[in-house]
Amino acid sequence: MPKKDADVIVIGGGIIGTSIAYQLSKRGKKALIIEREDLCTGTSGSCDAYITPHTKKPGFHLGLCLESMKLYKELEEELGDDLEYWQKGGFQPCEDELSFQLVSENAKDLMAGGLEVKMMNIDEFRSYEPNMSPNLVGALHCPSACQINPFKVVMSYARNLKKLGSQIMTNTEVTDLLWEDGKVVGVQTDKGEFYADYVVNATGCWGAQIARMAGLEAPIEPRRGQIIVTEPTSTVIKTTMQSGMYLVIKFHPEKITDERTKRLGSGFCIEQTGDGTILIGFTREFMGYDKSTTLEGIEYIISEGCKYLPGLRDMHVIRTFSGFRPFVADGLPLIGPVDGIPGFIMAAGHEGDGVALSPITGKLVAEMIVEGQPSYNIDAFSPNRFVKQA
Ligand SMILES: Cc1cc2nc3c(=O)[nH]c(=O)nc-3n(C[C@H](O)[C@H](O)[C@H](O)COP(=O)(O)OP(=O)(O)OC[C@H]3O[C@@H](n4cnc5c(N)ncnc54)[C@H](O)[C@@H]3O)c2cc1C
Repeated sequence: MPKKDADVIVIGGGIIGTSIAYQLSKRGKKALIIEREDLCTGTSGSCDAYITPHTKKPGFHLGLCLESMKLYKELEEELGDDLEYWQKGGFQPCEDELSFQLVSENAKDLMAGGLEVKMMNIDEFRSYEPNMSPNLVGALHCPSACQINPFKVVMSYARNLKKLGSQIMTNTEVTDLLWEDGKVVGVQTDKGEFYADYVVNATGCWGAQIARMAGLEAPIEPRRGQIIVTEPTSTVIKTTMQSGMYLVIKFHPEKITDERTKRLGSGFCIEQTGDGTILIGFTREFMGYDKSTTLEGIEYIISEGCKYLPGLRDMHVIRTFSGFRPFVADGLPLIGPVDGIPGFIMAAGHEGDGVALSPITGKLVAEMIVEGQPSYNIDAFSPNRFVKQA
């Protein structure tokens, strides 16, 4: 192998790639992030900011989210930047008896998994959030839910990893992998060749393209989410909210009967940022890499939103945008080495949970590389589940 440019090359400068590179740098490794555009221009720059353990599948997924939340609590101090970390609590409002029943059943499993949650009737819910519609049935409350600013997290990881001696190359596209004796030893880019001991694929919804260069068929697809943003306003909601229908769509899509909801995969979500703008979402659509927002999608988000928060009718929408969740059919990301492809590590496919799982993903991938194994068993995330047996 020609002279090494870094210990580890990380492809992708989103909230997953920068977290991995930062965690490696903390452990004394020199990382080189190679990003096709600029930092945070992929999904991490067009998403929401929830860290909501109550929307995770009870069990393994929830456990990992709780581990990540512990890391987030310490990150602001560790990185020395304001990340707009805000533990404001979260609700899951339910518009009908079906979603209330499913959310209640899920609440029991969440509590068994060690998460503090409580079901509330509509009066109790509105004593916290008086602007919500009295026509709702009730809500689940999760006091530990929080939000963060993903841009600030990425920029702060970047600043800190550079301080520790690692590097970032933007406007550089990886076009192929470089091999020696059956091992991945670097990347071919439009700016030349770069060599390292390991190459990590942290390209989110583009993860399948890089995986294919390594000979792995990784079933990662872009799943579009449209969002609207209102003008800044005084406090309308104090917590984060993802409707019970969001849970139905995520875990029980077979129970949806309304055709438009099925097509757009929409579930009401709302958060108010520190500067007063309100983000309302979103859709879950398979449209390839078409990043448009659509009249149907936006109209649906607004009409659903008004059902939950009637005061939305009097607010001005100032912009709309969409992003691509890196979707994997079995609902789990691909994290870890791949049998038969030494030197190559996957860290992609976090779907709607990549912001929440960023710190723990970075830590576990860095541990795999530096210590040989992660401190938390993530066998379920192994990309080997997609390796075809000869
Ligand atoms: C509408 C919406 C709302 C969401 N809300 C939440 C939420 O509230 N909470 C949560 O936890 N998650 C949420 N998510 C999911 C979360 O945003 C993603 O899981 C996360 O951002 C994925 O991060 P990433 O670093 O893997 O991917 P990205 O941020 O997409 O980064 C991948 C990078 O790889 C680069 N790249 C691709 N190909 C190449 C190449 N060949 N060479 C070099 N670089 C390349 C891209 O340019 C990109 O910058 C949401 C997503 C959407 C769409």
